[in-house]
Amino acid sequence: MKIREIFKEKKLTISFEIFPPKTSSTIESIYDSIETLASLKPDFISVTYGAGGSNSKLTLNIASIVENKYQVNSLAHLTCVGASQYSIDETLKFMQENNIENVLALRGDIPKDFAGELFKDFSHASDLIYYIKDKTNMCVGGACYPEGHVESLSENMDIKNLKLKALAGSDFFITQLFFDNSFIYKMEDKLNLLDVDIPIIAGIMPITNKKQIMRMAELSGCSIPEKLGRILNKYEYNPDALRDAGIIYACEQILDLITSNKIKGIHIYTMNKPEIAKRILNNISTLR
Ligand code: FAD
Repeated sequence: MKIREIFKEKKLTISFEIFPPKTSSTIESIYDSIETLASLKPDFISVTYGAGGSNSKLTLNIASIVENKYQVNSLAHLTCVGASQYSIDETLKFMQENNIENVLALRGDIPKDFAGELFKDFSHASDLIYYIKDKTNMCVGGACYPEGHVESLSENMDIKNLKLKALAGSDFFITQLFFDNSFIYKMEDKLNLLDVDIPIIAGIMPITNKKQIMRMAELSGCSIPEKLGRILNKYEYNPDALRDAGIIYACEQILDLITSNKIKGIHIYTMNKPEIAKRILNNISTLR
């Protein structure tokens, strides 16, 4: 089912993100994760894509398994950095042949050792969104950044570029991780001022590891609020406590987002740890 159709039926969607395992030896573990996540009956599960096409087959195969074996709506991520129209056409063909109706159209991060031509047929995500909407009837989402994209010269420029994704036909946006809800509310206000009224799904990252989260925050330009900083410092060397505190923090963020009535969905970055997603869902099951 297309995510834009789910929005018509539900006030709030709940979804998960998974990523393809790095090595083929761990491939079985992803199927266990999908099985647990599917049992939680999410509205959809998204599968990340290696920018530049690395692991692209794995993404498509996993999205197909989510959709066809587990009967859960899948959202396949797709990047256009280094991609040609031909390669995108081939990917879209595979998706359509495998009942994958939803795609998250991204530019992708620029891979470090990419040898080919970076921008062949598509320069920005909005080009890819427009192309897919023009060629298919698929439901297409785009990425958005509550604190602005790291490469962006200014927040206002970033919001204007986000409007281009909306004009290209984006059906919804999913946010990058953020730990301070005021940023998503401000982003939404700025979009409204530009007459952009597209469903926004909040991407929530439960913290489980200080080093990992600090690295992600640095790479993505997302800030660490003081309250979260204290949690990271206090439980840095106590993984059980850090995991529990991370779940509590994520649930508090989600409660605030749900009661704001400003978002259309909660997308949990599971980091392929379904037990954490399960605990979060248990806590918010009556809150929708
Ligand atoms: P764009 O929208 O093209 O934006 C990139 C930069 O260019 C921004 O600074 C923007 O302001 C600017 N820009 C956009 N349009 C224009 C224009 N017309 N003129 C001038 N400047 C412009 N990466 C992966 O590799 N694989 C994944 O699976 C993946 N999944 C993601 C899922 C989510 C929910 C999010 C938020 C990000 C994901 N990413 C993924 C990361 C993403 O690819 C990077 O953040 C990337 O650097 C930007 O992608 P984008 O689609 O936002 O690009």
